[in-house]
Amino acid sequence: MPSSASITKTISLTPYGINPGTVHYQLSPEELHRITLEKKMGREADSGALAIETGEFTGRSPMDRFIVKDSVTEERIWWGSVNIPFEPEAFDKLYDKVTAYLGGKEVFVRDCFACADPQYRMPIRAINEYPWSNLFVYNMFIRPEQDQLEDFTPEWTVVNAPGFMADPEVDGTRQHNFAILNFTRKIALIGGTGYTGEIKKGIFSALNFILPTFKNTLPMHCSANVGDNGETAIFFGLSGTGKTTLSTDPTRKLIGDDEHGWTAQDRIFNFEGGCYAKVINLSEEKEPEIYRAIKKGAILENIVMDDQGKVDFADTSITQNTRVSYPLTHIENRQVPSIGGNPKHIFFLTADAFGVIPPISRLTPAQAAYHFISGYTAKVAGTEAGVNEPVPSFSACFGAPFMPLHPTAYAEMLSRKMKEAGTNVWLINTGWTGGPYGVGTRMKLEYTRAMIHAALSGELGLYSYDTYHIHSVFGVAQPRECPGVPTSVLSPRATWNDDEAYYTMAFKLTNAFRENFKKFEQYASEEIRRGGPQRYAF
Ligand code: ATP
Ligand code: MN
Repeated sequence: MPSSASITKTISLTPYGINPGTVHYQLSPEELHRITLEKKMGREADSGALAIETGEFTGRSPMDRFIVKDSVTEERIWWGSVNIPFEPEAFDKLYDKVTAYLGGKEVFVRDCFACADPQYRMPIRAINEYPWSNLFVYNMFIRPEQDQLEDFTPEWTVVNAPGFMADPEVDGTRQHNFAILNFTRKIALIGGTGYTGEIKKGIFSALNFILPTFKNTLPMHCSANVGDNGETAIFFGLSGTGKTTLSTDPTRKLIGDDEHGWTAQDRIFNFEGGCYAKVINLSEEKEPEIYRAIKKGAILENIVMDDQGKVDFADTSITQNTRVSYPLTHIENRQVPSIGGNPKHIFFLTADAFGVIPPISRLTPAQAAYHFISGYTAKVAGTEAGVNEPVPSFSACFGAPFMPLHPTAYAEMLSRKMKEAGTNVWLINTGWTGGPYGVGTRMKLEYTRAMIHAALSGELGLYSYDTYHIHSVFGVAQPRECPGVPTSVLSPRATWNDDEAYYTMAFKLTNAFRENFKKFEQYASEEIRRGGPQRYAF
């Protein structure tokens, strides 16, 4: 584990209205690990990683994510069920309650940055109630050098009190937990939940407002890596579609696994300094880089392990959303600093549980815009025996919960930048093949990687009738052959062995696409509207 120089500086939390018992400023990861064990707030796995439980919440709580509605945000935010308004006065009162709650307690304070590009770097101060939350901040944000700490002036503050419970009647929250962004005071206030993802996605959401509004930079919910030829690739996709898995590629340098910006200077940069990988069913054989990143310094969340500290990655008794956070330094093949050039290739990842979207296809610019606005993936419903219905899930920009502006603001920016950069766009189905969920199987990771490598190396050839086939329902261009992938896998219809069932399912999905797109139709050009599926059920 990289050990950070010891910090002698002391800081006062009086400006924050906090009068703590003890302030632990900028503790090393070793110290935070040790303190967590001492307080019996975690255990050590046999890999040396720290294992903790996040408590009541093992995932984000989107219905409890608020934005303070004031002069900065009122006219700019796309208010609604995603961006829920919060009164400035109510925020001030709740902030005072949370800081009073932290009074007399031990608190863990850490200065760090978001945004790897120095021109966009944002200094952040995190004030955590728990030591392991502060270790998460160490892992996930960009770690300052010693000299950068000396005159560190934080711009944003994260106040994170998992043990504080709000009183909805008095505090104006929906329930006892909350994550509230205040763009005027530049505070992310998080309480009532220990789920660490709220911290990273809180700052992500703040950047998703700040960067396009004030800095002419497109924020993206995507992973990124770069090949030996210096060409950057980015991977958009909703949770579980493969951003982290596919960007962590031994043959390419990792830039980041989740949050990036695309600047006006033809660069992309990571917002973060670490990765937050799902570990459900993780195996060393299939995902060696992620598996080996789980060592001292990493934090495992909500996993189950035996008395010897051996983790059972198949055990989902706490949650399906088991995770590990680790600093980028745990990945050997990485890009330093986490910056790349204009992406040459963009991959839209979807885990299509209907099993009807081709495993790889090429999109026209209009199709790319349509699919970006739609942001499709599928969820698999319930675990009741016999219930195998996939449920379509649409999330604009492949990340609606984190996007404070109207989706078209991001979509227009992306379309323009892709055009200027001459980016190729591919749709990748990392979901089901041979039938829907329950009948077919998940696409082999090995095949998905081979398809992505073939797209990146140019082996899929030029866009012509000889090399591509236009899908009769989705209108996308499917490569007829791909090195390393059996040809039969390339055609989802062929893998089903039942044309009628295939088309029935495909139309079910295209109808869902059409239904979802209705709310964007008025904003989309005729060309983009035609980028959608070509056929629907009657
Ligand atoms: P989040 O936004 O929540 O971080 P993510 O997009 O990063 O999600 P991953 O963490 O990469 O998603 O999760 C993808 C999961 O699907 C992993 O558990 C991976 O092992 C599994 N998987 C199975 N088959 C494939 C495939 N063909 N391609 C990609 N991932 C696959
Ligand atoms: Mn991820």
